[in-house]
Amino acid sequence: MPAGFPDFRLGSVLATSFTATLTERCGDAVERIPTPQRLVDWLAVSGLAVESCTGEQLELARELRESIHAAATAAATQAALPAPAVRVINDRSAQGRAAAVLTPEGERRWRLGSASGVEDALGVIAADAIGIISGERDGKLALCASPTCRAAFFDTSQSRTRRWCDMNTCGNRQKKARFHAKNVG
Ligand SMILES: [Zn+2]
Repeated sequence: MPAGFPDFRLGSVLATSFTATLTERCGDAVERIPTPQRLVDWLAVSGLAVESCTGEQLELARELRESIHAAATAAATQAALPAPAVRVINDRSAQGRAAAVLTPEGERRWRLGSASGVEDALGVIAADAIGIISGERDGKLALCASPTCRAAFFDTSQSRTRRWCDMNTCGNRQKKARFHAKNVG
């Protein structure tokens, strides 16, 4: 991994892993795809390898990311979905030309329409977002309990009582803060 760039927060759900490329949205926000190359890196580790990315495509990606975040936040709080966000998600979904292919091992892979297919990759992410926001997939959208984070995440736990977007970061910080408070106070 190139030095000097923030690492990725990868979860098991594509769309919310993507929105987690901007973290601490309600605190000191950390941009984890600050350059086109870092988006290329993120797509590669997410099973959507592309050869290149332009500054314009990075802008498209960030627009989609913020639209998914806005729509997922609304869905998590049972608010009406913001129309501009829905439009962006639908546009990206409609313009992607990726195909799902089945490997001989029985796994799903994505085949992008062209080598530098950032738009195709964004189409896959948009479709994934539609799957979780529409309630089509088994799980529940919720907001991280950390006041500086408030990320939307997809809770697939059986009890649907997960509180943090990520146990290793937000969850851990909360636990440490509680431990500290108990031992000081
Ligand atoms: Zn969080």
